[in-house]
Amino acid sequence: MKTILKKLQIKTAKHTEMIDITAQIEDILWKKDIKSGICVIFVPHTTAALTINENADPDVVRDFTKEMDKIVPWEDHYRHAEGNSAAHIKASMMGFSETLIIEKGKLLLGTWQGVYFLEYDGPRTRTVYVKIMSDEDNW
Ligand code: ZN
Repeated sequence: MKTILKKLQIKTAKHTEMIDITAQIEDILWKKDIKSGICVIFVPHTTAALTINENADPDVVRDFTKEMDKIVPWEDHYRHAEGNSAAHIKASMMGFSETLIIEKGKLLLGTWQGVYFLEYDGPRTRTVYVKIMSDEDNW
């Protein structure tokens, strides 16, 4: 088994944003010719997160963002002096890592699934770590 660690830089443009990063992860697989293995992605932030969901209909992203804002409103008499408690809460609700299966050089996702980076306190330049464990010996 061989492993590789890659760092993706994501420049977010809005305060709250869902960015499909599936292609950026699969680009690493293609460039390194990794056909089979496991991929762990991790976000080292406290106000950004990761999730997997539908990437076919953009209305899913709009509905997702709207409902998250309802569940955790930006203003709610929070005590945290930085003023971004909602972003911290939403990030923990969604989580900071995903584990994915690599098969035939691609992420083994459902037909309608994509990997999303979730910005909850942007715009900022963010980092996503991608750790790949290939089960091939010849790369
Ligand atoms: Zn804070």
